[in-house]
Amino acid sequence: MRVEGRSGNTDIKALSEDGLRNFAREKLQGLKDRHLLRTLIPTGRRPRARTRQQSRDLISFACNDYLGLSHHPKVVEASREATRTWGAGAGASRLITGNNPLYASLESALANIKGTEDAVVFGSGYLANVGVIPALAARQDLILMDELCHACLFAGATLARCRTMSFRHQDTSELSGLLHEHRSAHRHCLVLTDGVFSMDGDRAPVDELVRICEAHDAWLMTDDAHGLGVIENGRGSGFMDGRAVPIPLQMGTLSKAVGAYGGYLCTNREVGDLIRNRARSLHYTTGLPPGTLAAATAALELIATDEDLVRQPLDRARRFNARLGLKPPESPIVAFVLGDARRTMQAASVLREKGFLVGAIRPPTVPDGTARLRLTFSAAHTEEDIDRLAAAVNEILPCP
Ligand SMILES: *Cc1c(COP(=O)(O)O)cnc(C)c1O
Repeated sequence: MRVEGRSGNTDIKALSEDGLRNFAREKLQGLKDRHLLRTLIPTGRRPRARTRQQSRDLISFACNDYLGLSHHPKVVEASREATRTWGAGAGASRLITGNNPLYASLESALANIKGTEDAVVFGSGYLANVGVIPALAARQDLILMDELCHACLFAGATLARCRTMSFRHQDTSELSGLLHEHRSAHRHCLVLTDGVFSMDGDRAPVDELVRICEAHDAWLMTDDAHGLGVIENGRGSGFMDGRAVPIPLQMGTLSKAVGAYGGYLCTNREVGDLIRNRARSLHYTTGLPPGTLAAATAALELIATDEDLVRQPLDRARRFNARLGLKPPESPIVAFVLGDARRTMQAASVLREKGFLVGAIRPPTVPDGTARLRLTFSAAHTEEDIDRLAAAVNEILPCP
């Protein structure tokens, strides 16, 4: 009996493992056939956007470290100091014993820079979105979102398990129409948008969105991952022409211009307390490493005070576009939509041969048929870096 049982188990295990392996193999082959297979490449990021990949030295135009702060001496030193004092890890979730005293200064720095009453820090931007959205919207509610919202906003909406509809990119009249038609049948309505769209670099018309949302008693939530530290004097997409736009829910990340890691929601005091009570991705996950909290706080101090630094990413992108005769960019993200995934990979590889690392972005990160090169400009680039990249791009791409 026992022997039979054992050998039976082994057979079942072998069978199901073969099935699993074949499942993976077929999926991978499908991706490969469509030029959508991805691989992880060891990448050594050094200061000044210098990057080493597969024994090649490259200048990176593929990072979101817009201000080069991940390597700033003050930021690195703050991280070392906090790690020496508090250790490498947080030890528990924020609600248990993982709420290091450094959280308080980080959250007040965020609230200050955004001009909000409160800020709540999460483990990452992704965790912020999958925690905040289901804490604010449930079955009887409605979510309306721009079709090009970042994947983690869609993930948060899925977890909310309520009716969710997307509107055409930047189409505020379609949004108004959907609100007219559907708002009254639902208890609450949440409207979601990127403040700066991550793959196109265009900005959402947040002042108009606030007006529309107020008219329909809907709550606007913006994702400022690519705004903070980068546009509007570093204060992000919640500002327009220097004026704060009253967006009730502004989330973002500490992993891009802030150069560290983590996510946040800036909002009013009551919503902040509700999120601390209800966001599952804050409760059931360990607090950030103390060194990360200190690094982010030091970086925010630089963002809040160094006006010259925060102007540079957009200045660099403008210089690049001017060199190529393109219209001025709205953010330091410049995309060349080539359409075809294979062509996009080839273009990236030609630029790599010339010493430049650029993002080759394929579906499903972007919609089918819109594969693109994505360039990001940073204060860490020199003007010479920009001019050399512009010359290289000019050689390989027919400019629009
Ligand atoms: C990168 C990004 C996120 C996720 O932030 P992480 O802190 O990296 O998890 C969320 N939204 C947008 C628009 C992003 O570009």
